[in-house]
Amino acid sequence: MDMATSTRPLDWLADFPAIPQGWAYLDSAATAQKPKRVIDAITRGYAETYATVHRGVYQRSADMTVAFEASRRRVATFIGATAPEEIVFVRGATEGINLVAQSWGKANLGPGDRVLLSTLEHHSNIVPWQLAGAGIDVVPLTSDHRIDLDAMAAMIRPEHKLVALGHVSNVLGSVLDARRAADIAHSVGAKLLLDGCQAVPRMKVDVADLDCDFYVFSGHKLYGPTGIGVLWARGEILDVMPPWQGGGAMIDRVTFEKTTFAPPPARFEAGTPHVVGVIGLHAAIDYVDGIGLDRIAAHEAALVRETREALRGVNSIRLFGPEDSAGIVSFALEGVHPHDIGTILDEGQVAIRAGHHCAQPLMAYLGVDATARASFGVYNGRQDVEALLRGIDRVKRVFG
Ligand code: PMP
Repeated sequence: MDMATSTRPLDWLADFPAIPQGWAYLDSAATAQKPKRVIDAITRGYAETYATVHRGVYQRSADMTVAFEASRRRVATFIGATAPEEIVFVRGATEGINLVAQSWGKANLGPGDRVLLSTLEHHSNIVPWQLAGAGIDVVPLTSDHRIDLDAMAAMIRPEHKLVALGHVSNVLGSVLDARRAADIAHSVGAKLLLDGCQAVPRMKVDVADLDCDFYVFSGHKLYGPTGIGVLWARGEILDVMPPWQGGGAMIDRVTFEKTTFAPPPARFEAGTPHVVGVIGLHAAIDYVDGIGLDRIAAHEAALVRETREALRGVNSIRLFGPEDSAGIVSFALEGVHPHDIGTILDEGQVAIRAGHHCAQPLMAYLGVDATARASFGVYNGRQDVEALLRGIDRVKRVFG
């Protein structure tokens, strides 16, 4: 109990103006609340410094372009990319995976080639591969709900050109041993894509250490704005990927007969970008780095431990995910639909997510339609865990 409170100075919560006193916001895995620093950066971006980027000949646009590209460099250092040109701004993880599936997939997945996913993937790491026409195989989970890398090593074949896995599960919180997954993928010449949506807000990520080939994440789960996310790919892979959307900014020269394309990252950023979203993302990275991802990880680990320990004592509860899940605890109460749990908790000012969490194949594997999910962020503390437990007591009373 003590660790959870001792690792969170109260001022982290005070950074978040949209969290009123007494509201336990336990849905950060869906989207994180925004610190004032990010809100101020967005406000300044529209109220003081707003202009388009890359095109304007006037000073305001040149200044905005400098800020925009500074954010790209900030993202690159944040995740250990070799160069800012490896950072493609996208709308979010969903668009990042669709980009890889449509561009790299169409160029590299021939007849008979397959992609390897896992049972716990988010729909956004399943459907894009189906739309790209790829054959799909699925790595099972271990009994404690991790991606089973022994099984993966046994099933991978040269036909698998790509392995795409969640770095941290949005339902189970299980953390992938990404380095080992990369070794297994590379042993047959496959590329490894990691869906880092749930990892980037809660642990230090270094793409060079992970040895992956593609990494995607969404800004809004990292305390940044919605509508902005990142695709990182190794420079040599990105260099030869064909464009996937056509329009302004991604071209070199256009005639009606033929168009040549800009080098990455511009080749993959057709149209006017989410200028202020990129500025807000920079502020979000500064915010989490200012706290330190190691401290955030320790803080959330303490809250998860405390929550799991307390929930284990509740009658007829089923807890999903491994003991050391990162920042996320999914559960079900026998005889109570998770939506009812969510509604009753909301009456007590506790916001959790209830549903299939965009992971229907995982729900089928777990044998449930839905789960209740509490997920943590820097602003949570012991008081939120206590509010959750009081709410669950109430659910038990209501449902007998
Ligand atoms: N992957 C995972 C693991 C997620 O949790 C989410 C968001 N729930 C996504 C992908 C999709 O992210 P977005 O909706 O921001 O594109």
